Amino acid sequence: MFDDLKGKRVLITGSTSGMGLATAKYFAQCGASVGLNGRSSRTPEIEAILNELKALGGEAEFFQADLMQSSGCENLVADFTDHFGGLDVLINNAGGLDVLINNAGGLGGRENLEDIDDAFFDRVIDLNARSALMVTKFAIPHLRASALESGETSCVISTGSIAAREGGGVGAGLYAASKAWLHDIHRNWVKEFTKDRIRFNIVSPGTIDTAFHDAKSDEVKSNIASSIPMGRFGRVKEVAPSFAFFSSHACAGYITGQILDVNGGQIAP
Ligand code: NAP
Repeated sequence: MFDDLKGKRVLITGSTSGMGLATAKYFAQCGASVGLNGRSSRTPEIEAILNELKALGGEAEFFQADLMQSSGCENLVADFTDHFGGLDVLINNAGGLDVLINNAGGLGGRENLEDIDDAFFDRVIDLNARSALMVTKFAIPHLRASALESGETSCVISTGSIAAREGGGVGAGLYAASKAWLHDIHRNWVKEFTKDRIRFNIVSPGTIDTAFHDAKSDEVKSNIASSIPMGRFGRVKEVAPSFAFFSSHACAGYITGQILDVNGGQIAP
């Protein structure tokens, strides 16, 4: 399946864990050249992941960059394209709420409206909106060149969220709005870059079992699970193939500007 992903140069932001890492493994199995990214420097754990990706059949390299800074976004694209000689698929996956924001500065990931200050606003928006916009901006010339060389399409896929569609839980409104912003700006990019044969699509997960939910109690998790028609959280392996589908020109060459919900029936679009 997805035979045409063999040899494709795929940059996945925020791919040292969770859905990003599962997606990296899926692409490696398809024979792609995968760029891993996260904030931490290269560790023995990252070396082990790179070896695993190569054993699965792909090429792989790690690129450290904090994408809350535009300079990090620019450096990431430059480092990836220097290493792999170009870029065919960009997956904007870095983002999050509780854990990521706590790790990044101890501010906490949830704030009710009356407690939101400028620092909190900037942190949520930098992580979930600025990062995707800036990485995409610096990737565009390479994606344009890729489509020109191959005669096919290149593409950007961003990780949206069910929260973008339903507003998010209490305290997560800004996060939800940043994901809605991402859903919407893709539609704008379709208008600007379809002439360059670059496609833009969103994979919009529901509640997926990752570190994203680590701060929740078992009781809260159980309540959420019972609200999902499938009765459980999604697994990262159940999300990864949707990124591959959108990346494949053979499968999705005529699909752009779309949002694919992967949520066990939790909400209908
Ligand atoms: P995760 O396991 O915590 O993964 C987050 C990834 O982002 C990690 O690889 C992390 O790497 C990286 N990251 C965080 N801040 C970064 C920064 N400033 N610069 C570069 N990389 C950064 O969580 P996940 O659930 O898989 O989340 C992936 C995406 O799915 C996020 O965009 C999230 O909003 C979205 N999402 C998740 C769910 C869910 O239920 N899990 C639902 C809807 C949408 P380092 O820690 O090494 O920096």
